[in-house]
Amino acid sequence: MSKIKVFAPGTVANLVCGFDILGLALNEPSDIMEVSLLDEPKVIIHNRDEYNLPTDPEKNVAGVVFLSIMEKIGGNTGFEVTIEKHIKPGSGIGSSAASAAGAAVAANHLLGNIFSTDEVIQFAMNGEKLASGVKHADNIAPCILGGVSLIRSIHPLDVTSIPCPELFVTVIHPQIEVRTSDARQILRQQVQLKDAIRQWGNIAGLVAGFCKNDLDLIGRSLEDVIIEPVRSILIPGFDEVKANCKAAGALGGGISGSGPSIFMLSRDEAAAKKVEAEMKKVYDKIGIAYHTYVTTVNKNGVRIEALK
Ligand code: ADP
Repeated sequence: MSKIKVFAPGTVANLVCGFDILGLALNEPSDIMEVSLLDEPKVIIHNRDEYNLPTDPEKNVAGVVFLSIMEKIGGNTGFEVTIEKHIKPGSGIGSSAASAAGAAVAANHLLGNIFSTDEVIQFAMNGEKLASGVKHADNIAPCILGGVSLIRSIHPLDVTSIPCPELFVTVIHPQIEVRTSDARQILRQQVQLKDAIRQWGNIAGLVAGFCKNDLDLIGRSLEDVIIEPVRSILIPGFDEVKANCKAAGALGGGISGSGPSIFMLSRDEAAAKKVEAEMKKVYDKIGIAYHTYVTTVNKNGVRIEALK
């Protein structure tokens, strides 16, 4: 198989209380990439969208991932990719992770699946290093594995999938810029013990809720006393969106990744659509343009189709 089409889903990292350690894959939006092997050691990138992302392989997360794989395998293999981005860069729903994960999975497939899933995740993390300055896997892992991922550790890599109930996810992406680096810089470096206790109660509660299909426990556990109070000040309307969505029936939710997108989980589609209407109302009132998605959890992660 010389050319493949890859669908790499958007992801919601952190899941409110699980900063840097939890993430979930979405059925919508999804990036599309066409990838083929070259018989010379170079990377060629084409963009088929309006985002003008770099085509220099050293500056595009997909390119960095291909280069890291080429360095590992040596020889005369290279990659050509056409990226059709549907996940807006900087949205907080894993745009860079989709390119990185898509590139790593595609390359491994074209090479005959010579790398393990953990190795593929590690190659993809090189792309996240380029995008945000730090290697993290809370978007990469769910993008590759689907469902909900728990990243217990990245040094050494220890990732596991958690069973996930049939949940609906509403996402609003207000069209404002929140730089991942700013969203990281404003965080406090020290945490009070009472906050830590509340937070690890919530993380454990959320994981237990997913495993036991206990939606009320999931809802109660979607609380973040450490990151959200600091980060949410970067997102106008955040508190109102959250309060109104919960009043409209959302189980709970919060900032997606480092923002500015906000996500909410709901038990059914009707609730998820009511939540979407509440989100829109807040940003219509503030006067900020937005894009919304009402979708479900993607259980399979990056998907590959043969092209020729
Ligand atoms: P998101 O959470 O939406 O992925 P990030 O801030 O983590 O947003 O990543 C977006 C940054 O990565 C932007 O600065 C963008 O220019 C850069 N970038 C480089 N290559 C890509 C790519 N292939 N896809 C998305 N972003 C890329």
